[in-house]
Amino acid sequence: MATLKLIIPPETFRLKPVSNSVLNSASNPLLETQRLVVKIGSALLVDPDTGTLRTGWLESICADISGLKAKGIEVIIVSSGSIALGRKRLGLTGQRLSLAQKQACAAAGQSQLTHAYERELEKYKIITAQALLTLNDTESRRRWLNARLTLQTLLELSAVPIINENDTVATDEIRYGDNDRLAARTAQMLGADTLILLSDIDGLYTSDPRLSEAAKHLPLITDLTPEILAMGGSANANAQVGTGGMATKLLAAKIAVDAGCDMCVMDGTQNHPLKRLQNGAKKSWFKAKENPLNARRQWIKGSLKPKGKLQIDAGAAKALANGKSLLAAGVTATQGQYFKGDAVSIYNVDGTELARGLIAYSAYETHAILGLKSAEIARVLGYENSAVIIHRDNMVLMT
Ligand code: GLU
Repeated sequence: MATLKLIIPPETFRLKPVSNSVLNSASNPLLETQRLVVKIGSALLVDPDTGTLRTGWLESICADISGLKAKGIEVIIVSSGSIALGRKRLGLTGQRLSLAQKQACAAAGQSQLTHAYERELEKYKIITAQALLTLNDTESRRRWLNARLTLQTLLELSAVPIINENDTVATDEIRYGDNDRLAARTAQMLGADTLILLSDIDGLYTSDPRLSEAAKHLPLITDLTPEILAMGGSANANAQVGTGGMATKLLAAKIAVDAGCDMCVMDGTQNHPLKRLQNGAKKSWFKAKENPLNARRQWIKGSLKPKGKLQIDAGAAKALANGKSLLAAGVTATQGQYFKGDAVSIYNVDGTELARGLIAYSAYETHAILGLKSAEIARVLGYENSAVIIHRDNMVLMT
């Protein structure tokens, strides 16, 4: 007789009613952390001159990680470096790479990267587990829940997941391209309380410190105002080996703080970066929101590529602002190829994004029922998935 497996709905674990912020009282936030995501940029792992692994540095961070693990802190590593390492292995240094060449480099470099972590962490009897994610794995709700369950299981088994984007299969249109946002989505996925982005810049400045002496360092950011977000510019911290600049770090911060996760940006170039952080190294902390959104809303708000767009009229915009669901009657236009359950963006007539939500109808169906009263949906389609196009429980306001 077939055995039945009990499947625990993945939505039920680690839903946090209040912020996990470790910044409130802690003099040493890292020691208050329970679940930590550390993002390691290519510029730290790979020597830009030789294209080889900075082994001494890797040894030092693995020693730091083992110290944190010994204190019962769960650690997840999001590491870049596959393309940079693969370049050297495949003899493709000093040239612009085509997409296929980058993907080939990622394939050759990723195994070396994972092996390096495995070798170093094994010294402390820490098991590593490689997980390569694509944008689809975090942007499709079902795949997100699957990935979450796997990573959660690895943490329960005390392993350290080593995550990177699956650059070998991801093409330009459907890739993250930077590990800052991937790390933030990972922190959000796992309900981490702390995210550390180790970079070659020691935090957020009011303007680019390489260009202006008046640039002021900001040690603590409690609110991601439009002024703060504008400070990211499009500067690239290190065009040689990494892809993320401050702009992607600020986008990552938005995802993290909405999820109730504190985020830190610091210069991790020197050995023992996590120990240095505990000893007071210069950094910027982005403080988690006190009342983070629930897990489903966090996911919707943090979605990087909503599958479609809806334009709504002024009446519907007002209803949304008052916490109401979106009705077909208020939708004036639809764009994009989406299916029932996909995340879509909702715009007003001026082109301002008002909200995002999980839609109850496909693009084809939505097109057919635009502007109709709910009672007419069944007459036009022959069935009715839902009386509303997007239910308020599946929606989050962006303004
Ligand atoms: N996933 C890329 C790699 O491993 C790096 C992305 C980034 O630099 O953030 O090489």
